[in-house]
This record gives sequence, structure tokens and C-alpha cells, in this order.
Amino acid sequence: MSQDLLLQLERLYAEQQLPAVEGNPCQSCFACCTATGHLTHRISALELAYVGWKVGPWAAESLASYAARERNEEGRLVFEHCPHYQNGCGIYDHRPFSCRVFGHFRERGTELPGGCSFQGRETEFARQDYYQVVPGARALRPLLREFSLLARPRHAQAAGPGQEASLDWLDQDDPVDRALGHLAGGHYDQALSELLAQLERQPEGSGFVWHTLGLVYGLLDRPALAVEAFGRAVTLMPDQADCLAQLGTSLMLTTAPGMLGYGHLLLEEWNQAAAQLARALEIEPENGFYALRLASARLALGQRQQAIPLLELAAGFEPTRHLALAQLQSCAKSEPTGPCA
Ligand code: SF4
Ligand code: SF4
Repeated sequence: MSQDLLLQLERLYAEQQLPAVEGNPCQSCFACCTATGHLTHRISALELAYVGWKVGPWAAESLASYAARERNEEGRLVFEHCPHYQNGCGIYDHRPFSCRVFGHFRERGTELPGGCSFQGRETEFARQDYYQVVPGARALRPLLREFSLLARPRHAQAAGPGQEASLDWLDQDDPVDRALGHLAGGHYDQALSELLAQLERQPEGSGFVWHTLGLVYGLLDRPALAVEAFGRAVTLMPDQADCLAQLGTSLMLTTAPGMLGYGHLLLEEWNQAAAQLARALEIEPENGFYALRLASARLALGQRQQAIPLLELAAGFEPTRHLALAQLQSCAKSEPTGPCA
């Protein structure tokens, strides 16, 4: 999975059409390769992993440290300039996306470093237009999202204000990014609509989309649907720890009320049993055992009117049909207002 994303990034770099420049405009300048000169560096975990794959682990680790502007015990920058600068970029073919576009493009309200030879020739963009203006940025977004679930924590954390997580940099023309914005804003229904619309367009989805859908279903208190979504995410990303953990948690949430309800039933704690089993049935409306057990709790509480439809429901499922019909028969034989025999 992660190898596939690295290959997709490689293709993206190869196909990226940057504005043509004559000669080497940078010459001996390396202002944007210093921690103080290039303050807008944003390097994602995927780009770091790509450098690690192509150049080696130390190359990625040191670049991560530089991008995060890590400081040593004395408070000094570990890398005042990029560890890969050696009279030019030492990892030019594998350099991160932001190194590729720097100079050619400038966000409105920011400045290129003093003396940068691109000054006056760069294309200015407003942040909301970033994905339309900067070549490759829009295609990069889904790769970054997918990889954000696979990234080693060191890379995910070290990537500074990484492109994966920053809400300021969501692509408003991308439904999955819009869903992330809604999710962060607590608008779970809107996040759900965006994700379902995306899955209508692309039914196979991606690990990230199913994982996010699982989170949204969890927040909307729909654990059975969360199980389904996390299950799909795990199929697409079998090694992804969070998908597995979320699947386990959702499974526990779906089964816990049923188990608790049964426990209360055995202890003859009818009210607690009814509350838990009603919740269990809400989560799994096609579980005949929950319906049957809830009917038992209702009958024990003298709530015959509520119990009968539950028994009828349980009679509709093969595993509980026999028991439910027997109970319905004994109710039919007994006094309508009294307990069922
Ligand atoms: S990776 Fe290359 S272009 Fe980017 S900051 Fe380092 S030396 Fe400069
Ligand atoms: S892009 Fe500008 S600031 Fe960066 S090295 Fe080239 S000339 Fe210098």
C-alpha cells in the first residue's frame, strides 16, 4: 500500500509541469534551503518517506528534523540549513513538493527571501486558489491523506505544519477534504453527506475514506455502520493499526449493550436489562435474540403491550422463531391484562 503511494508520488513528480526557467536562476543562493529563510516549508510524511526510499533513512530523518525546525538542548536549531544542501540540492530529483514549487509560486501575504532571483517572476496565489494554481497540488492531496494513516509517527510529527492535517490547507473542491472540514467543525451530518456522495462517485472508496466514514458513524452513535466502514478500511489497509483498533472498539460498542443486557436479565434486574437490550436492538435491529430477551424483560416488568411486537419481531428470524412463537402462544392463552404464562 505505502509502496504504491510512493510510486504514485514518483509519477506525479515526473508529470508535474512547472513554469520553464532559463539557466540556473538560483546559482549560489540557498536562502530557501535555510531554516530561517524558507519559513513556509511544508513537507508531508509521504514526501519524507519518498526521500527515505530513494536516498536512505538518515536523509529522511534529517530532513524531517530540519523541516520541523527541531532545536537541541541549548535551544539552537539542529539544522540551520537543509542537511541536503551541498552547493545545490543534493537530493534534487527526490526533493519535496514544496521545494519544487518554491520561487515559482508565492502565497499572497508572504515574501520570497531577499535576493531571490524569482522575485517579480513568480505567480502569486490566494490560499483558497492554491489547488487550482499550483501544478500537482490537487493530485497530491489524496496521496497525502492516504499516507497520513500509514505514516510512522516520527515522520507524521516531524513534518512541521504538515499538509495532511492542516485545516487551513483543505481543498474546498474536494469532497473528502470538505468532509474533514465538517468533521473538525463538529458538523457530522454534513461530513457524512460528503463522504457518502464521494462513495457514490467511487464505490470502492479508499482506506482513508472508509476510515473517516467509520469515525463519522462512531460520532453519530451508529456503531454497527462504523463496524462496516472500519471493516472496509481494514480490507484496504490490513496493516494500519488505527483502522484495526477502531474496528475492535466499534465491534465492542455494538456487542457490549447486548452482553450487558443479558447479564442484567440473568440477575433479574429488569429495568437495566430493558435499557441495555433496547440499545442493543437499536444497533442491531435484525438480532432476534435481542428482541426476544428484551421481550422477556418487558414481560417481567408487566409491559405486555410492548413485549408482544418484540416477540413478533423475534418470530421473524430463524434462530429465535421457535422460542418466540411459543411465548406468543402462551401470551395468547393467558389473560390479556395479566402476565404471559
Ligand atoms: S531538499 Fe533540496 S531544495 Fe529542498 S530545502 Fe533541501 S537542499 Fe533545498
Ligand atoms: S528559489 Fe530563490 S531563494 Fe531559493 S535558492 Fe533559488 S534564488 Fe534563492
